[in-house]
This record gives sequence, structure tokens and C-alpha cells, in this order.
Amino acid sequence: MKIAKVEGFRLYPKAIKEAWVEDEYVWPSHPPSVLMKVTAEDGTYGIGEASSQQWYLGETSDQILELARIYDGALRRVDPGNFALCNHLMEAAYGGGMPGGRSARSGVDMALYDLVGKKRGLPVHALLGGAYRTEFEMLTNLYHKTPEAMAEACRDFVKRGFRGLKIKVGDVVLAKGWDRDNMLSELAKLDAAVEATPRHVYIDADANQGWESASWTVTALRRYAGLDNLSIEQPLPYADLDGHVHVRRHGGVPVILDESVWSAKQMLQLARMQACDRIVLKMNRLGGFHESMKTVAICESANIGVSVDTNPYTMIGDTACCHMAAAIRTHYPVDCEGHVSFLDWGPHKFVTGGITIKGGTAKLPDAPGLGVDIDWALLAKHSKEGYDR
Ligand SMILES: [Mg+2]
Repeated sequence: MKIAKVEGFRLYPKAIKEAWVEDEYVWPSHPPSVLMKVTAEDGTYGIGEASSQQWYLGETSDQILELARIYDGALRRVDPGNFALCNHLMEAAYGGGMPGGRSARSGVDMALYDLVGKKRGLPVHALLGGAYRTEFEMLTNLYHKTPEAMAEACRDFVKRGFRGLKIKVGDVVLAKGWDRDNMLSELAKLDAAVEATPRHVYIDADANQGWESASWTVTALRRYAGLDNLSIEQPLPYADLDGHVHVRRHGGVPVILDESVWSAKQMLQLARMQACDRIVLKMNRLGGFHESMKTVAICESANIGVSVDTNPYTMIGDTACCHMAAAIRTHYPVDCEGHVSFLDWGPHKFVTGGITIKGGTAKLPDAPGLGVDIDWALLAKHSKEGYDR
């Protein structure tokens, strides 16, 4: 089997997640979103997804579409089942030597696994080495702006059966700058979440790099000493590895790294420095399944937990997240409802199949490849009538 063509199709979502809709903070109301399609010479195809954000990952839709064209040139007539070679060729063609710019590669890599899974009659998790599970506890993201709204949202999602809550505690300091008042407003939301959430539910307090100072982070975290369901996620800038080591040693709560995790080689540095207890695995920052599995192997060897995360995705990427989570030994709640809570693609439901969500549980379909497909006629309508045209 040989690759005949790599194509990108721009998608046109709008954000529905609180704190995203007005572009008030750093989060985009119309994030870049591109469907990737890899077609084999016999006409069989696989699909994947590149989802990005301008501030967060430094990519636009035009950049991602241009990379689809570059990867088309790099991958024609290559065996799609040679994931290692395909990834090597894509890295050599663009961005292998720098962090970022990997959403397009992750979307093509996802499509390669879908294509090969369909051809071999195997689900993607079987290509990743096998599934520890095919049903998943779930996590959701909460960007609420007041302590009262945050507490209410926590109670609601706990009632619905969610086992992980990501409490955003960086939006204000990122938008308005770090000072005492802005920091206290972030902590007030976290206080409300902690108060409202039972101990069997993980609380991941995510600062998205906004807390800046390792020492101030440690003093802020001391008020939460003894709370064994709380972790702090990425309080400091992505390159401040020593700072995160300091927070982990002195903050009294586990440290999760997210923006610092952009390659397997970088993961090895984080593990060597003992900079974190857990990572957030984003396939679009790492470059897809192939790079993610190398990263997971390092984490498992170093007893570092892995939480798999939407970016946010359509049903395609969220189903891919569950295949990824299936192949990870220790289970943390999966963030795979970006297609429900973050974005709206309009009336034309162009994705078919995929995970089913019931309460706080997601279940993978029993199908080859990713287990999702595209209604191409509806996609054509979406391309004409989607948001932000
Ligand atoms: Mg994060």
C-alpha cells in the first residue's frame, strides 16, 4: 500500500465555551481547525484532525493548510504503515528542530493510523500496542469567571459523573497582568471549586503559565496543604523547568506539566529533572500518536501520570484521544468532550460514528481505525456555510 494524496479541509467552528466566545482572554472565538485526509493508491482513506489556537500554539488555519500541502509532497508513494518513516519525513520537511507547529503533523499522523487500521481491520488502539480499557472516566474544563459560577459548575459536573475538573486559574493574570489583586481573583475561583468538590474527584488547577513566579506559586499553594485531590498544572512559563522543580519540591501538591511537553526528547528532560508528577498529553503539540507513544513510554518508566486532552477537537480528535488513553497503563480522567462543550460546527453534522458519552463516561466504538467517518456531502455544505466564513 502506498500513499497517493494528503489533503487538508478547513473547518469553521465557533467557540461556545465560557471565556472563549468574546475573545476577552487569550482563547479564540474561532480557533483554527482542519480535517486531514490521507488517501492510499487503492482509494482507501484515513482521516485525522489538526486543531489549534493562535496564542496557545502559534498556528493559523492557513499555516496548517500549507503544511498539508508540504506533507503531501513529502509522503506520496510512502507506505502509510511505516509510521516511523512517515513521521521522520514530516519532521524533516517542517519544524522537527523546534517546539510548536505540530498540529498539522498530528492530524496527518492520526489519518495514517486510521487508514492502516481500516486496511488491517484493527482499531487504532491495537496498532498502539493494545487497550487497557475502552471505557473512560472523563474530565471537563471550567473557565467560569466568578467563584459562585465556578462552584455551581463543579457541583453540576460532579452530579453528572465526571471524575476530573480542570479549574482555570490563569485567565485573568494572562489577560490583565500578574499582580496581587488578579492573583487573588484566580485563587478565589479555586477556593470555591475546592469547597464544592468531593474528594473522589480530581481537581487540576490550571494556570496556563500565568503565575510566573516559582516562589509566589509555592506560597499560594501552601493554603491548600492536605488536599489530596488537588494538583497544580503549569503555573510557570513552559521553558521554566527549574521553577517547576522548585514548585514540586516545596508546593505540597503534585505538579502537572502541559505546555512544557512538546516532544519525547523534552519529556526525557522533564523526567530526568523530576519536574512533574503528571503530564497533559496533547497530540497536536507532540505531533500525533507516534510521538505520543514514545512520550508515554518515558512517563510510564518514570512513574509520571498521563492525562489525555482535547485541543479542543471535533468527534474525530476526541475519539483519537480515547484510543490514546486506551493504551496508557494508569488511567486518569480523559478530556474528550471538546466537541460537546468547547465548539459548535453548525447544523451540518459531517462526522459520523466515534465515541459515545453517557454521564461522565466515554466509550470507544468497536470498529477498525478510529471508528469515525465523514459525510462528505455534509462537509461540503459546512465548507460553504460554516461560522467565520
Ligand atoms: Mg493545561
